[in-house]
Amino acid sequence: MSSTNSLPFIDLKSQYAALKSSVDARIQRVLDHGQYIMGPEVKELETALAAHVGVKHCITVASGTEALLIALMTLDLQPGDEVITTPFTFAATAETIVLLGGVPVFVDIEPDSCNIDARLIEAAVTPRTRAIMPVSLYGQVADMDEINAIAAKHGLAVIEDAAQSFGASYRGKKSCALSTWGATSFFPSKPLGCYGDGGALFTDDDTLAQAAREIRVHGQSQRYTHTRVGVGGRMDTLQCAIVLAKLERFDWEIAQRIAIGERYQHLLQALPLQRLAVREDRNCVWAQFTVLLQNGAQRSALQQALQTQGVPTAIHYPRPLHRQPAYERFAPAWALPHAEAAAERVMSLPMSADLSAAQQDQVIAALRQALA
Ligand SMILES: *Cc1c(COP(=O)(O)O)cnc(C)c1O
Repeated sequence: MSSTNSLPFIDLKSQYAALKSSVDARIQRVLDHGQYIMGPEVKELETALAAHVGVKHCITVASGTEALLIALMTLDLQPGDEVITTPFTFAATAETIVLLGGVPVFVDIEPDSCNIDARLIEAAVTPRTRAIMPVSLYGQVADMDEINAIAAKHGLAVIEDAAQSFGASYRGKKSCALSTWGATSFFPSKPLGCYGDGGALFTDDDTLAQAAREIRVHGQSQRYTHTRVGVGGRMDTLQCAIVLAKLERFDWEIAQRIAIGERYQHLLQALPLQRLAVREDRNCVWAQFTVLLQNGAQRSALQQALQTQGVPTAIHYPRPLHRQPAYERFAPAWALPHAEAAAERVMSLPMSADLSAAQQDQVIAALRQALA
């Protein structure tokens, strides 16, 4: 049951209304030139995004999942190789490791930020470890300096799963510019979305960038010369054109997201729930605006109460990966209590760059009533 003035969980319609003339013109231009695969918009977007992030290379790919997969392929991940990652993420993170025969090694999260706990990583390093794959969950980068230091000490690569954090900053640098590879997604609901599937990889390493460009097109170094095993992993020209149009107000959108997130955090101070911790040296672009409740029972009741008041909610994510049927065989010898608790406790509220103060007040009022 939802009331007539139901809020959208993510408002893509207002965004399209604001950008309609540029989006439509960009799409029309692609229809006119007809280069649907690897058309001029692909390079144009890669150049713009590399400049935005502040790295040498951007390689657009078919999705965020494909970005993670290709990044691991450029490292020549072998069956049995281990990749240290978080169990509290979307399945794609671990899926790409397992698809290549690798072993995801799950270490627990920080209970307040829900990001991987960097202090637990070194104890999980073995002679088979090849890489660390932190996730910048909800739009906040994990402790990358600490993670990079462990990686340097042990000769490991670091792949940032930045599917939720494009546009976020960490100690004066941008998400995706912080490690061996930054991998992001342009799934429509992400901070920078297209109108279908898309993603991108970022690196300063020329050799890795070249490898990714080849893997993206079936491992071809030139047409019909397949120097390595690759995938069909291109992002199509139309989706690149749409992201180019969206870039016009992306800086404004990121500023909005940060401001709306801060306003939520401020308004929630008065309510009996736990707010996500955002560290001083970074920001959060709130791919999801997520709070923590006492337990699963309170959460279910609250979700229902909010729904009847027209406030949609979502759970990112209801089960940690080591409790998922496909991944439970990778449950480590150690316990993961914080990931398990977070899966019971998290709840995401409506969030978009176009969320108005009045809409936000409606969310807060509904929460206050439901928690009273
Ligand atoms: C969305 C997401 C992905 C996958 O991106 P797609 O573009 O949907 O393939 C990977 N990791 C995380 C953390 C995500 O949120």
